[in-house]
Amino acid sequence: MHLLDRIDSWADRIPERVAHQSGDRVITYRALRDQSDRLAAWIDDHLGDDRTPIAVHGHKEPEMLVAFIAAVKSGRPYVPIDIAIPAQRVDRIVATACASLVLTPAKIAEVLAGSTPTERRLRRVQAGDPFYILFTSGSTGEPKGVVITLSNLEAFLGWLIAEQRFTEQGETFLNQAPFSFDLSVMDLYGSLATGGTLFSITKEHVANLKLLYTAFRESGVTTWVSTPSFAQMCLVERTFDHGMLPGVTRFLFCGETLAPETAAQLLDRFPEAQVWNTYGPTEATVATTSIQITRDILARYSPLPVGVPMPGVEITIRGEGGGILTGERGEIVIAGPNVSPGYLGRDDLTAAVFQSYATGTSYRTGDWGRISDGFVFFEGRMDGQVKVHGYRIELGDLEANLRALPHVADAVVLPLERNGKVDGLAAFVVLAGPREGTDFALSSALKTSLADRLPVYMLPRKFVFLEAFPMTPNGKADRRKLAESLG
Ligand code: AMP
Repeated sequence: MHLLDRIDSWADRIPERVAHQSGDRVITYRALRDQSDRLAAWIDDHLGDDRTPIAVHGHKEPEMLVAFIAAVKSGRPYVPIDIAIPAQRVDRIVATACASLVLTPAKIAEVLAGSTPTERRLRRVQAGDPFYILFTSGSTGEPKGVVITLSNLEAFLGWLIAEQRFTEQGETFLNQAPFSFDLSVMDLYGSLATGGTLFSITKEHVANLKLLYTAFRESGVTTWVSTPSFAQMCLVERTFDHGMLPGVTRFLFCGETLAPETAAQLLDRFPEAQVWNTYGPTEATVATTSIQITRDILARYSPLPVGVPMPGVEITIRGEGGGILTGERGEIVIAGPNVSPGYLGRDDLTAAVFQSYATGTSYRTGDWGRISDGFVFFEGRMDGQVKVHGYRIELGDLEANLRALPHVADAVVLPLERNGKVDGLAAFVVLAGPREGTDFALSSALKTSLADRLPVYMLPRKFVFLEAFPMTPNGKADRRKLAESLG
């Protein structure tokens, strides 16, 4: 069944069930179908032959879901953009996506207020068509748009739902990640496809932990989906346990390393819940491998494996020349129906990492990995991509944006690590003109300027001002020496 039919079918079967709750706002399955139909008709009238993607700019409002579904019902992919992303970067994303329409919750509410119910059938998104486009950090400073087709999404969802055996109409899914991150696809469509309720954590919750824990108590969450960093933060609260979330039956993690201690603590505090580690890049639709982290797995492995690939997907470990390695460390390459056709409008970037073959596409992840005991193990990045509290950041993105500032002649950005985990970023800066003011004043000024270009989670925590960078023998900035200077 087409994913959209599957989602719409809940409007007949359980019309009053809450499809999405965000703060004190809710939308039922009946309203989701009705409003997305009306918005889709409006989009189609408004855009006519213009089939460009629809940018949807907001946070966790129910209108976001209405817009996502409406866009694909009208045959156009959507580009979710969270409000954490500053205006300049939003403009660049909208321009790169060639989106002629940017919908915000206010605009959507206005359109809906002036529309009437419709049963008009439009040419909706079909199997190989782009369904959504997610922009991730790009190493040159330009965000790159990963195109995910309906087939990609259905391949991922088919596996997720079968493996996790979600109870139809019975689950409440925690939505922690903003919709502009692909982790959110796991809870958003895991929930909508199975008649569940999506329970969103908003920026207000994250800014006020008391509010967050009160929300958890009232949430009825059964399936927890988050980055490991978010769960680690919650575990600091002593009462974060089965008593706070009595209904949780599984924790699903993706996006960064799951520390054995985090998994062990969760198993202690939530004795009735399963803990799963899943792994995959946005380019292969959320997650490609999975494993349930049992006490036995905890006893046997540290670091933890990321699991086995979903059926129909092949993971190989490749050496420098592209040859397949067995038992050795190499690059993780994913091939299967969940692999994206490539980056929007960037054939150069696409050609560098995607490869078509007879039955599909493969993607070179840039992740070091190894297969051992039948499990895939993630062993770090081969390039300058890092995860800071679950957010994917190219160090080159930050460096390019720093260099674009008028007072900066050159910049190198390096990860700051604590207990073997990236905990923030350090920027080494050579200023363009004479140095004026204290380091503190200079850092604050640079942070303020950068915040116009980059979301807060990408900003460096530490700035180091230098007259010049130490050089390697071939004349490049010596990153190793700079890293050593961080201690
Ligand atoms: P994203 O596209 O934001 O999902 O980031 C994908 C990258 O996150 C992967 O290429 C890995 O480097 C990293 N990653 C994803 N899942 C895991 C995991 N379970 N353990 C360790 N790293 C992960």
